[in-house]
Amino acid sequence: MPEGDTIFRAARALNKALAGATVTAFETGYAQLASAHDNAPVTGRIVDKVEARGKWLLIHFSGDLVLVTHMLMSGSWHIYRPGERWNRPRAQMRAVIRTAQYEAVAFAVPVAQFHTARSLERNTAIPKLGPDLLNEGFAENEAKARIRARTDVEIGNVLLDQKVMAGIGNVFKSEICFVCGVHPFRLVSSLTDREIDCLVDSARKLMAANITEGSGDQIVTYTGLRRTTGRSDPSARVWVYRRKGEECRRCGTIIETRRQGPGARSTYWCPRCQPSAPPI
Ligand SMILES: [Zn+2]
Repeated sequence: MPEGDTIFRAARALNKALAGATVTAFETGYAQLASAHDNAPVTGRIVDKVEARGKWLLIHFSGDLVLVTHMLMSGSWHIYRPGERWNRPRAQMRAVIRTAQYEAVAFAVPVAQFHTARSLERNTAIPKLGPDLLNEGFAENEAKARIRARTDVEIGNVLLDQKVMAGIGNVFKSEICFVCGVHPFRLVSSLTDREIDCLVDSARKLMAANITEGSGDQIVTYTGLRRTTGRSDPSARVWVYRRKGEECRRCGTIIETRRQGPGARSTYWCPRCQPSAPPI
């Protein structure tokens, strides 16, 4: 398995375990981290999110603090329940983040650093995020150029790549492709300029609409039923996501699904509205 996949999975698992939780204890085997922790304790902060950027794993804490670890070589993050026995020797421990429910342990990571948003931005070794879709000054042309540069990658994977554009999650990936009539497994090299324009525009519109009118974690991309029936069933609010085996809301064809890309994320599409061949 390529390293990118492993780090992506690790970030996803850590995010699931830690995001939203308060840090109850922090321990480290690195003197630099320890002294930084003494000055501005990690304990008491909330874990905002965990993300992978290339070979790097970033744990964002409230109060502008990011723990960055490099995952090459033999480094790995493990998640344990409190008191559970570790699978690697304590001597290899480099950092431990404890919450009420979990204990995340970094073993043998060759690099571990604390950053602020600013020092992260200035660091040239850690890959930057792409333009933020929810940012008012969203750099549209830069986002489109970043998409085009990934010629031999499937568009579904490109939409999830936060280094291309920041903000799209797995639900929106399928929804955006549907709205633009683009098959999610098509390579970027097969996309027309008009299709790329549509993908970026739709990404912005759908995400902005969900910020202003969305309720909590409910994602709404399809409002036809909701407006008329007031149904709150999540599957009534989207075009294709998690609608495998159901009829397409536009053409009645049965929605399909397949796993895609790093982390084998579920992708949904309508085979008729989103043909696998590019438009002529
Ligand atoms: Zn359809």
